Amino acid sequence: MTTEQVTRALFDEVMVPNYNPQQFVPVRGQGSRVWDQEDKEYIDFAGGIAVNALGHAHPALVAAIKEQADKLWHLSNTCTNEPALRLAKKLTDATFADKVFFCSSGGEANEAAFKLARKYSYDNFGPEKNEIIAFNQAFHGRTLFTVSVGGQQKYREGFEPVPGGIGHVPFNDLKALKAVISDKTCAVVMEPIQGEGGIIPADPEFVRGVRELCDQHNALLVFDEVQTGVGRTGQLYAYMDMGVTPDIMTTAKALGGGFPIGAMLTTDKCAPSLGFGTHGSTYGGNPLGCAVAEAVLDQINTPELLASVGDKRALFVAELEKINAKHGIFKEIRGAGLLIGAELTESWHGQAAKFLAAAREAGVMLLVAGPNVLRMTPSLIIPDEDIKQGMAKLEQAIAQVIEQAKAIEADSAA
Ligand SMILES: *Cc1c(COP(=O)(O)O)cnc(C)c1O
Repeated sequence: MTTEQVTRALFDEVMVPNYNPQQFVPVRGQGSRVWDQEDKEYIDFAGGIAVNALGHAHPALVAAIKEQADKLWHLSNTCTNEPALRLAKKLTDATFADKVFFCSSGGEANEAAFKLARKYSYDNFGPEKNEIIAFNQAFHGRTLFTVSVGGQQKYREGFEPVPGGIGHVPFNDLKALKAVISDKTCAVVMEPIQGEGGIIPADPEFVRGVRELCDQHNALLVFDEVQTGVGRTGQLYAYMDMGVTPDIMTTAKALGGGFPIGAMLTTDKCAPSLGFGTHGSTYGGNPLGCAVAEAVLDQINTPELLASVGDKRALFVAELEKINAKHGIFKEIRGAGLLIGAELTESWHGQAAKFLAAAREAGVMLLVAGPNVLRMTPSLIIPDEDIKQGMAKLEQAIAQVIEQAKAIEADSAA
């Protein structure tokens, strides 16, 4: 089979229909630009859903993977390896954490976090203390445990019975949490900014209150920083400017810059509960992935890069506001750093996907976060010129969607 024969249409023939990918097939990328099979160019505001934090084919990452590929790919956890040791040292040096568990995705990192929370409470307080409290609209992954802790019922439907001992309360509602937290609570789990749920930042006061309630009840605070981590918000991790430190934190997505890797970070207090033989992963901590992640961290964890995220956000927001002044389609622009959500006005609610398709036509890749919010999670080093060009294309797309809606309205009035 030649490349010409492999088309988007083949997807529907040979793939399980759990995704509905866009109607083009990208074949290469460079920085924040991507080209498809027809050599059409796209500006990439999607960033692989907050994964390609250094864009496509970043020279430092390409060099790291090539160098490691010639040396050692995989050993299994019967041996440790230099890249994993170096990466763990860098992650613990850079964060609150003392100990790291490596895996291959965000969902697996959360799976490990929730298992550790249960096990820690079991070891220290007994089997009764097993309840996990999470928040409505939260997203923590697609394994059965993580969709159960996640706050979107639709991801659990039909997969029951799901694990028990999990409750949900509204996000940013301290009273609601206070009403359900108890000495049976082993962990409270939250995203510092809900990503999939619509780019909803946690109120600083709420986060501090959650920490206090956890302390009062000997419950662990778990931060899911799979989307917010590795420089996305302009901090290495979002918790760092919230005045609150979690007991367990998960990171993935941007950590590998496109290579699948995840990690669960925790303290010396909690780590012993994942004693020898209690948990594991075949691929977790493999040298190839860790070598790439080490290069990602080296690039991103610098004061200059982290500071530039705020500048790029300012440009994104200014451009979005310009579009809004003309077309009046955004109710609110929110998020932090380069995790940007633009909620559509009420009359456009439910139609976010329409803008995605029009944007693709215009040559810019976007994301949605639910039916009402356009989401952008571009490379942290996207050039300003690409931001401006992408925004011009986005405006074109928005104008086109509005035109179409007007035409349909005129038609039905006639
Ligand atoms: C993407 C995401 C996950 C799941 O990560 P996978 O690598 O897809 O398993 C978990 N939590 C948050 C906050 C995410 O954004």
